[in-house]
Amino acid sequence: MSDSTGSDVARLYKREFAAAHIIAGHPKCGRQHGHNYTLLAKVYGSSKAWLDFEDIKRKIDGLVDERYDHRDLGNMTCETLARQLQEQLSNLFQTRVKIELWETGKFGVETV
Ligand SMILES: [Zn+2]
Repeated sequence: MSDSTGSDVARLYKREFAAAHIIAGHPKCGRQHGHNYTLLAKVYGSSKAWLDFEDIKRKIDGLVDERYDHRDLGNMTCETLARQLQEQLSNLFQTRVKIELWETGKFGVETV
């Protein structure tokens, strides 16, 4: 089944990165701390089209390395970070992108 944009598959790319943040007012996360995030990006498209996995890797790694890895993200929650990554990657690939962003092995956010 394809949707209105012709997407019937999502290419997947997963990578990890480390970053610090602080959630003001939170009893525990109000202290600055870090996470080893796992990002799973789903880049939607048509199964009839050809998309280079290496190109996906290069673009996502480029963005993450430049803006997020080993950075202080300030007062950014997992939710806002996932939405920001979704917007930036959608612009980069010019197609629908969904994000899973895992803050720990147990907790994460999925854009919808
Ligand atoms: Zn945290």
